[in-house]
Amino acid sequence: MDINLKRLGTTFTTLCETDSPSRRERKVGLLLKEIFTEFGCDDLQEDESATVTGSDCGNILVRFQGDPELEPIFFNCHMDTVEPGTGVKVVFKDNIFSSGGDTVLGSDDKSGIACFIEAIRVIKEQNLSGCPLELILTTCEEIGLLGAKAINPDDIIAKTGYALDSTGINRVVIGAPASNRLKITVRGVAAHAGLHPEWGINAITLAAKALAKIQVGRVGSGDSVNFGTISGGTASNIVADEVTILGEVRSHSNDKLEQLTANIEKTFRQTIAEWRDPSGEAKGIPRLNFEVMPDFPIMDLKTDDPVIKRVAAAAKSIDMTLDYVAAGGGSDANIFNGYGLQTAIIATGMTHVHSSDESVCLKDMVSLTKLIIALITSPYNPKRNQ
Ligand SMILES: [Zn+2]
Repeated sequence: MDINLKRLGTTFTTLCETDSPSRRERKVGLLLKEIFTEFGCDDLQEDESATVTGSDCGNILVRFQGDPELEPIFFNCHMDTVEPGTGVKVVFKDNIFSSGGDTVLGSDDKSGIACFIEAIRVIKEQNLSGCPLELILTTCEEIGLLGAKAINPDDIIAKTGYALDSTGINRVVIGAPASNRLKITVRGVAAHAGLHPEWGINAITLAAKALAKIQVGRVGSGDSVNFGTISGGTASNIVADEVTILGEVRSHSNDKLEQLTANIEKTFRQTIAEWRDPSGEAKGIPRLNFEVMPDFPIMDLKTDDPVIKRVAAAAKSIDMTLDYVAAGGGSDANIFNGYGLQTAIIATGMTHVHSSDESVCLKDMVSLTKLIIALITSPYNPKRNQ
């Protein structure tokens, strides 16, 4: 496999230096459309998801016909980057790409896109035959997996795929938690804090009592609880009548997710129920509004699932050893797995993502490119091998 290092580096640098913060992916989307059209891809479509996500670009689906005897696969990368990600200047030193300034590099997830492009170039150049292929380029991954959530899964032909989107190298993520987002509103009664404090019910202190009873952080292996924002009250001389807390629960077990969520609700409900009016003059009673919004479903692949057997066979064919791990984050792969499309996440070599220290080593991108080529061209065929 003759990977063109210079070409891979140039593609990666161009992608990183083309701004694409979440909801403004249009510029990089146009660049990618141009690249894949030049390749002579067999189909290229942009979906209607922009109306749902609020982005200036839809998800882009690219298809390459391949040997119809082989089971098709899809790859997935997201086009958006986190902030600060505008005006990136890539620095390449000692074989490592980093950002030259106060921005992220954008290797999350442009390292995945660049390696996929190089893989296709090598396959075309060397006239290698491979399986039918789809590339799903999503928008708004970093702000709640919005592009993937707005995809019509019926548009995707392949039943299994690989998201090129994780830190580390030679590593496949096979498990990731499900998550519920919480919006908890405690309502009390407003009153003048100096003239008639007896009339009021302080929502802030009630919420604080409930919060103090709840364990946060890592609450079990693979389970976590967090309260991220709290807002409410109007002024220091008014008894606070309302406070809203935003939080989340994650777990690698659906039962545990439900249990943790239910426990938080129970704690709030009990705290509100235990409220007593010290003077008997309060103008009402406290109330609670507890909203649970499922954020993303669980990802729980087994090593004998076809999607994992296939990547294992591809790695073996190029003498690569892979680690199979569970991760704590949610990503587009959770959404695809939720659609019933088995999706594993392959690491791209990126490190220190979501910070200005983000970097990726060219050697690791070469390694990923080789694995992508092996996945596409490997004779492994679940239809025959099962
Ligand atoms: Zn990412």
